[in-house]
Amino acid sequence: RFITFEGGEGTGKSTQAKRLQAALAERKISALVTREPGGSPGAEEIRALVLRGEPARWSPLTEALLFYAARADHTERTIKPALAEGKWVICDRFSDSSYAYQGGGRGLARETVRRIEAIAIDDFKPDLTLILDLPVEIGLKRSLERHGNVETRFEEMDLDVHARMRKTYLDIAKRNPSRCVVIDANQDIDAVEKAVFSAVKKRYRL
Ligand code: C5P
Repeated sequence: RFITFEGGEGTGKSTQAKRLQAALAERKISALVTREPGGSPGAEEIRALVLRGEPARWSPLTEALLFYAARADHTERTIKPALAEGKWVICDRFSDSSYAYQGGGRGLARETVRRIEAIAIDDFKPDLTLILDLPVEIGLKRSLERHGNVETRFEEMDLDVHARMRKTYLDIAKRNPSRCVVIDANQDIDAVEKAVFSAVKKRYRL
């Protein structure tokens, strides 16, 4: 079982990933929580590289190649071994982030992302993706309250970029209805947790 959380800035993915892990533990299901970029020693090194420096330091193509290099390592070294041990894996961001950020956000063609994806991870996909959806102004405001600044390399870009990323996520959900569930993240944390768990129960018949 491989579950991913996706969504823009300030949508609460990491909080919900931890809460889902706890809810599964109550049912005696052991789940690994991991995150991208990062999630394996090599991928964490790439994370430090990509999240450092000015926004738009690299072209969207170079950026996508770096994120997928990290993702290939994370998939091979962390995710697949955990799945092979019978664990569930909950990942905070995965491939859909590249379509949303480098694709929708920075304008890299979807077909280019798809080709890089095919080389990096072949047809490896989550079987459930929870897309936490939130109006971008609210997400950026939350992010600001948490970090004192928007901790993203897109901080100097305008709301339009974030709006395009949000739209890309919603398009992905429309095109992949059996994999993706859109969750309204504009409610309190407990309500989001409930919506997440009910999607998980439905998908895996718990
Ligand atoms: O998950 P979190 O929001 O902490 O992600 C860290 C940052 O990584 C994001 O804010 C975003 O700027 C960046 N990112 C990206 N492209 C991806 C995945 C993440 O630019 N494919």
